[in-house]
Amino acid sequence: MPSSDFVVRGQRVVTPGSVQAASIYVHRGRVVAVRPFDDVPQGCKVVEAGESVVLPGLVDSHVHVNEPGRTRWEGFKTATRAAARGGTTTIVDMPLNSVPPTTTLEGFRQKLGAARGQCRVDVAFWGGVVPGNLQQLAPLHAAGVVGFKCFLIPSGVEEFPPVTENELRPSMFELARLGVPLIVHAELPGPVEHALAACCAGETGGDPRCYETFLRSRPREAEDEAVALMIGLCRETGARAHIVHHSSADALPLLREAKREGLPLSAETCPHYLAFAAEGIADGATEFKCCPPVRERENQERLWEALREGTISMVVSDHSPCPPEMKRRQEGDFLKAWGGISSLQFRLAVVWTEARRRGFALEDLARWLAHEPARLAGLDLRKGSIAPGRDADLVFFDPEAAFVVAPEINEHRHKLTPYDGQTLSGVVEATYLRGEKIYERGHFSERPTGRLLKRGDEGKISDVFDDVESFED
Ligand SMILES: [Zn+2]
Repeated sequence: MPSSDFVVRGQRVVTPGSVQAASIYVHRGRVVAVRPFDDVPQGCKVVEAGESVVLPGLVDSHVHVNEPGRTRWEGFKTATRAAARGGTTTIVDMPLNSVPPTTTLEGFRQKLGAARGQCRVDVAFWGGVVPGNLQQLAPLHAAGVVGFKCFLIPSGVEEFPPVTENELRPSMFELARLGVPLIVHAELPGPVEHALAACCAGETGGDPRCYETFLRSRPREAEDEAVALMIGLCRETGARAHIVHHSSADALPLLREAKREGLPLSAETCPHYLAFAAEGIADGATEFKCCPPVRERENQERLWEALREGTISMVVSDHSPCPPEMKRRQEGDFLKAWGGISSLQFRLAVVWTEARRRGFALEDLARWLAHEPARLAGLDLRKGSIAPGRDADLVFFDPEAAFVVAPEINEHRHKLTPYDGQTLSGVVEATYLRGEKIYERGHFSERPTGRLLKRGDEGKISDVFDDVESFED
């Protein structure tokens, strides 16, 4: 019998592929065994989950923390509190919106310096591919980023410019050589420029307060053509590619075909594309603005179908907040407002609220919100499932309870979110990080104990600061 410091047991423990009554043996912060419910070593301390569901700590591979440089927008302290309260025990930070961006070794060094000591959950990092930084990719990889992100259309911040197909190609050959994924904001500028010109000349005069105007300015073709481009580059270079925040259902046949062909290509979508529909967005409600946009109800149901069949493999937040004034809520101008939705804390509840009424199960949540994002970021040997060898990251979850989203419970730096006032199903009661309780019913542990994770050889995950030599030039 493996030795354990304590056992967590419950009637509904979500392990890969099943929900069962089980005892989870925890030793030195790791799961060392999952045994039958009654199989508890004599004298061993037991934490009873009772009727609560025990989920693996969730992994969110798409979070814009914005620190350093735009800490007024969000920051490691607030973002990781929100994560812990929402049942997310690992986030992967995006390389942009922070200043400097994580596109150079120096940028990564500054990011780590900013994050250190502030995090309540574990944090890993994406690097960025921008024009001219090909030589930085190998050093950034050696320093521990889990992969790289690029944009095919302007990102909204000038220090993180998009790449053209010809700029991207050599970077993808390099990433294939390094064996790390490329994650892509897949919209092409051509269709957007064209649509914007057309809709501003249209009959409505392109009223910028009207959601319809914004929706028409970011047409599905922009995504569809970008996905086609990425499939071609994926086939040509052999690099592992992943489409972030996928919204256009019209590109799903392409993704299905790529999967059938066996290409190393995957896709994610976000809670807002699954929970909201364009038809329900009021004029001037700029808190709903994101790129690509929330589309029509018909589109939304096809995204759910894609999740059901696995064409879309995960749901991540794309938490991308800003100071409320940048949302220009007073004017309600969709074209000028910052594009980004604040939702890190609410991902689990939003997805569960929508998923349960479509007949999905708790295992689906664990796969979409924990296991698959961990796998994308190469963290799955340590994160994303309740199984021997993984970190004892656990969430006690009441799937039958409900709560109302309100500023008092919102841990993000800014409280503006399109979910405000909504009643959501599923309450996180407690969150454990590496065997330690970091959150319970509105209360947090005294100190932040999150680690900054580095991806090493053969999927080995370690703390960045265990190996500072990699930062010496
Ligand atoms: Zn994003």
